[in-house]
Amino acid sequence: MPAENPNETIFSQLEAYGHKKVVFCSDPDTGLKAIIAIHDTTLGPALGGTRMWAYKTESEALQDVLRLSKSMTYKAAITGLNLGGGKAVIIGDSRKDKSEAMLRKFGRYIKNLNGEFITAVDVGTNPKDMEYIRMETQYVTGVPETIGGSGDPSPITALGVFMGIKACIKQLYGNDNLTGRSIIVQGIGHVGENLVKLLRDENAKVYASDINEERVSQVAKKYGAEVVSTNSIFDIGADIYSPCALGATINTETINKLQCPIIAGSANNQLENESVHGQMLLDKGILYAPDYVINAGGLINCYSELMGFSKKRTLQLTENIYEATRNVLKLSAAESISTIDAANKIAEKRITDIRKVKSTY
Ligand code: NAD
Repeated sequence: MPAENPNETIFSQLEAYGHKKVVFCSDPDTGLKAIIAIHDTTLGPALGGTRMWAYKTESEALQDVLRLSKSMTYKAAITGLNLGGGKAVIIGDSRKDKSEAMLRKFGRYIKNLNGEFITAVDVGTNPKDMEYIRMETQYVTGVPETIGGSGDPSPITALGVFMGIKACIKQLYGNDNLTGRSIIVQGIGHVGENLVKLLRDENAKVYASDINEERVSQVAKKYGAEVVSTNSIFDIGADIYSPCALGATINTETINKLQCPIIAGSANNQLENESVHGQMLLDKGILYAPDYVINAGGLINCYSELMGFSKKRTLQLTENIYEATRNVLKLSAAESISTIDAANKIAEKRITDIRKVKSTY
């Protein structure tokens, strides 16, 4: 960001991403420094998690919140939810800078948006933090189950990823049975472990990998998976590579090494560069299930909490990820465009169509 005229740069960034509103929250008494970004509310209130992170610079925090809130718009749109896209970041170290007062102050900023933005848990925040926000505003989801929340979204996220994997298998092999198929799961955390369970329940061969050696060996033993080291993932020939740890694991180097015809996992922002690597995967004939399409289970969980849906309805909505993924893969094949471009096209069409509905009557 050029120091001489930062305001101009902020507005040009908002214009480039297409944001509706960005709110800067500053409260020296509690140490709160936060940014709430509302990208689009055509389909409904902007819902997105609050991330707490020790960003090195304020412009890094702004970049993150703009990028993440835009992807929430697309995730809600393609999942068929009546939600817009938003996100919030709190600048600070979640292990030492957080306090009840800070989170309640942040809750008051959300309250003042009168329902235009609804938040949830993200990296660096937890259900207890959401409980503090709830003390000031009703516009928060992911509060503990004991006070009426939807609890840990990871099992639902894993189910959505599982449905996305099945849709890819169907596209390549004509049936979606995972028995005998092999899959590398990278990252055996909250989502990864639940995914390993679902895959093993259907007799898939699972290679599990995590930097936390103790955890990965425990989970592998529990479900009958094979542990593989983090640096041998791209040497293994398997049917599916499932990134469930970090973003940007799909880049020029890893695409050249990858020996799996399908990529489908939960991690956000898997492609280091959406257009370059989306196209590269298409050229190489590797089927990529766009991350935001198949990891929408967490968002569905929040939506269900808001709408008062039953567990059954939440599971139904999550199972719809199978059809959503099929539609993306079919459009990609029909128009010879990358799967990420196909997903973006479907999401944008829904938003444009509904915007017309709302503006014409
Ligand atoms: P988590 O923190 O519980 O698990 C991540 C795991 O990845 C950890 O066990 C960690 O040790 C491991 N890991 C980190 N770096 C690694 C590396 N280089 N190689 C192998 N393993 C590595 O997180 P989670 O809740 O399971 O989420 C996983 C991913 O899915 C994240 O990218 C998250 O943003 C995304 N996601 C999660 C949800 C959800 O409901 N939890 C929803 C949507 C998206």
